[in-house]
Amino acid sequence: MTAILNFFKKILGAASQTQQKKTSRVGKIYSRSEHNISRSQISENALKVLYRLKKAGFDAYLVGGCVRDLLLGREPKDFDVATNASPEQVKRTFRNCRLIGRRFRLAHIYFGQEIIEVATFRGGEAEEDSGQQVVHEDGRLLRDNVFGTIEQDAWRRDFTVNSLYYNIRDFSVVDYTGGMEDHAKAVLKLIGDPVTRYREDPVRMLRAVRFAVKLGFSIDPETEKPIYELTELLRGIPAARLFDETLKLFMSGYGLQTFEMLRHYNLFAVLFPDSDKCLETEDHDFPRVFLVKALQNSDNRVAEGKTVMPYFLFAAFLWEPLQLEAKRLMDSGENEAFAYQHAASGILNRQVKVTAIPKRVTQSMREVWLLQSRFTKRSGVRPYRLLSHPRFRAAYDFLLLRAQAGDVDAELADWWSRFQQVDEAEQKKMTRPAKNSRHKGRSRRSGKFRSKKTKSNTHE
Ligand code: ATP
Ligand code: MG
Repeated sequence: MTAILNFFKKILGAASQTQQKKTSRVGKIYSRSEHNISRSQISENALKVLYRLKKAGFDAYLVGGCVRDLLLGREPKDFDVATNASPEQVKRTFRNCRLIGRRFRLAHIYFGQEIIEVATFRGGEAEEDSGQQVVHEDGRLLRDNVFGTIEQDAWRRDFTVNSLYYNIRDFSVVDYTGGMEDHAKAVLKLIGDPVTRYREDPVRMLRAVRFAVKLGFSIDPETEKPIYELTELLRGIPAARLFDETLKLFMSGYGLQTFEMLRHYNLFAVLFPDSDKCLETEDHDFPRVFLVKALQNSDNRVAEGKTVMPYFLFAAFLWEPLQLEAKRLMDSGENEAFAYQHAASGILNRQVKVTAIPKRVTQSMREVWLLQSRFTKRSGVRPYRLLSHPRFRAAYDFLLLRAQAGDVDAELADWWSRFQQVDEAEQKKMTRPAKNSRHKGRSRRSGKFRSKKTKSNTHE
């Protein structure tokens, strides 16, 4: 125990010496009466963690997004804690604790559904030959598993407003980077030299857009300027991380505004190159209208507390590229069904290289796409079969969007809406084959299917 403590003190000591070289600024303290964060806004479990750490003799702060959101009077998504206790010390303080992470050890404290993340202060700089900080040749930080002081922890965060600490000891807010002033001005400012900070982690460009939209903050001109030139750096980011970021960008209820802003900075092109190409080369309004409708629809759903499915939105993003590709294949002689299947594979293979969309998601996207052609088949048993498809609901919602965007006749969408509402007798009338198509409708396959259904006395 003493050995561990000594070891930890040694690291902190070394780290704080390095820190003094780097910044001379001390934290500004905003006392309880100078800010609007009250304990009643803080999750009980987060408070328990803070108090327990304090009782065990450690420093404990709320930090990051939760402090930023509390200052805005908003309910934070989650509560993160920063402390001078090492992960092992945290683990010893809590029974319901698990240490996670290879890149940087973090403690997760479990309270039923809620997890409070506790991170040990991180150092900004490692001793040169310690081997603990690894920088890629393009300036990207690959590994930085070095503990540090609260000051260092503050300076290595991304935006000033994300670098505020709520101290459980006296309920003050500690600010090393000028975050309180920026917060009051509603400005998003990167800490340090923006180009260096983007080079270290290009995802910060996406985070700038995400927070600007979510908080309604403006991006400081110095933070904004380099983005236009650095977008390409995002190509070096692992596809799995970009997928996670994409979800946060588009699924949190501000998708439409986020899309517009990403387009403005040419960041959308990096995330969805095929979709962006369609937007660039469109000779009519449809793709843009379609994307906008899809995003609006999903933002509305979030606002109403309904779930939004990533596959639906991604299917919408890539619908126009899919159609162009399928058309190209049909022009070169493939039949429609194969053309759509091959086009779907091609589009998805390209997209997963940029954003690693998991297989279950691409599978559902493919289903939503491939079911679209089946909506035009309205006679006989086919509508019933489509109706009982597990992905019918999503495919139908997709059809409604297409109708709203003018990609398909509104009459078709209306027919399907009605078909779901009317009683069996009416459904039967609706699906009665037109007289002249009756003969044509009796293909070998549908005939076979029909006789089976007759036996079980379903429809007919
Ligand atoms: P959200 O409300 O979306 O969770 P957040 O600010 O909490 O916003 P997180 O991704 O949860 O965002 O990160 C928590 C904190 O960790 C941030 O507030 C910031 O201080 C720090 N952080 C996260 N990502 C980075 C990064 N790429 N570079 C530097 N600091 C980061
Ligand atoms: Mg967070």
